[in-house]
Amino acid sequence: MNFRSLRFRITAWYAGLLAGALLIFGISVYLGLERYLYGDLQRSLGRDCRTIANQLLSQRPFKRPDWLNTEIEEAYSPELNNHFIRVIQDGVGVVYLSSPPKDGTFDPAQVPLPIGDEKNGARKASLSTGRLLVDTVQYAAKDGARFTVESGVLYRQVEVVLHGLLVTFAVYMPFIISLAIVSGYWLMRRSLQPVDEITERAEGITSTNLSERLPVIRTGDELERLSKALNHMIERLDGAFQHVHRFSADASHELRTPLTILQLELEGIAQNNLLTSSLADQIGSALEETHRMSHIVENLLVISRFDAGEAKMNLSRLDLGTLAASTAEQMRLLADEKGILFRTSVTGNVYVEGDRPRLQQVIVNLVANAVNYTPEAGEVEVIVRSNGRKALLEVADTGVGISDEALPHVFERFYRADKARSRDSGGAGLGLAIVKAICTAHGAEIRVSSHEGRGSRFTVELPLARVTENTLDQSALRTH
Ligand code: ADP
Repeated sequence: MNFRSLRFRITAWYAGLLAGALLIFGISVYLGLERYLYGDLQRSLGRDCRTIANQLLSQRPFKRPDWLNTEIEEAYSPELNNHFIRVIQDGVGVVYLSSPPKDGTFDPAQVPLPIGDEKNGARKASLSTGRLLVDTVQYAAKDGARFTVESGVLYRQVEVVLHGLLVTFAVYMPFIISLAIVSGYWLMRRSLQPVDEITERAEGITSTNLSERLPVIRTGDELERLSKALNHMIERLDGAFQHVHRFSADASHELRTPLTILQLELEGIAQNNLLTSSLADQIGSALEETHRMSHIVENLLVISRFDAGEAKMNLSRLDLGTLAASTAEQMRLLADEKGILFRTSVTGNVYVEGDRPRLQQVIVNLVANAVNYTPEAGEVEVIVRSNGRKALLEVADTGVGISDEALPHVFERFYRADKARSRDSGGAGLGLAIVKAICTAHGAEIRVSSHEGRGSRFTVELPLARVTENTLDQSALRTH
């Protein structure tokens, strides 16, 4: 789980706030209920005291000596109700004391006599078996006798209810919080799903497919605004890229004609017999640079057209093996001249949908580089095979290799790892950029692996053309 993800953070906040709210709610309910229960109990004890005083003690002198006892026992059954009742007459002492309750939870004789302020109001009496809430009322009879009436019950009555509430909270709160976490996480997942989709699509958009757009979520919320805003941004980028591509294409195109004229003029001058030898050398060198410049402009024009989507592709079904074998054969001389061992290992019947001259150019550029950057007595190999899903064209050499720093840049325009060597061989750093552009236009991928000083391997992975009956003949392996 990603702890930094929005999904996790919002769910954690949500669960934390909910837990906090539930805790405050629980504490308030607990304290409120505690107050209410004690208040209610105290009121009911006070009522008992007043009833005993006003209805029983007021009837002095009593008909019988045990009349008060009988009346209280009958009215309140303290023994059965775990009720403590005591009546004290000033100057006489305790005139009534309830019997110990049946369950023996406390002993009424142990309850200390009220002193001072305790004679009027509620108090807490601590016994060895528990605490008792006792309310006390003073009563003065008509005959001048003064009484203290006490009524009490065990705190446990209230504590049992409060404990029950605590247990309920302890059981249900974690359950509610867990439920909130699970449902919150699920809800977040659901509502952030479109963000994942947008991210995935946005990651796939590069300078080569700026015409694609992100999915717009029609929810009318911030996400819809975000996806629309991103799409507008991609649209503007697309426009800017188109502009740059058009500019490069137009500039290369416009440079072509003056360069051709310049070349022709220089060739005309070079043929003039009246030139001194030093002037002829200078013209020759200028002509050479003009050739190089024309070559660069031509290559730039090809790349710009691919970028601007203007390159015309004549797609046809062709056997990559046959194409590679014949193209490589035409280049064998180049390798022979340098004393390089040149091999082709080509499987026939590897059919692809492609533009023949363009794919030929891919092979030419890769093989030319391999020969260029491989010293004498090295080896260059061209391989065509199929891995069942893709057609693979590999050009491997045992040459100088490419350093780890240079490797990620070799397909960039005008990038040359070794400027001096590349310029000597006439390269301007556009060969691999063209290869890449052609591969992209064919939906192909190009990879390179290389070890400095040990050689390089370029691999082009093209989608295989759909198989038809006449291509199902036995594949032939030709090794030269
Ligand atoms: P260039 O025209 O300079 O060869 P490329 O675009 O064809 O330009 O290649 C770019 C750079 O990649 C080259 O300058 C060279 O440093 C490196 N490179 C390409 N192919 C090879 C290879 N087979 N072996 C070593 N380096 C290579």
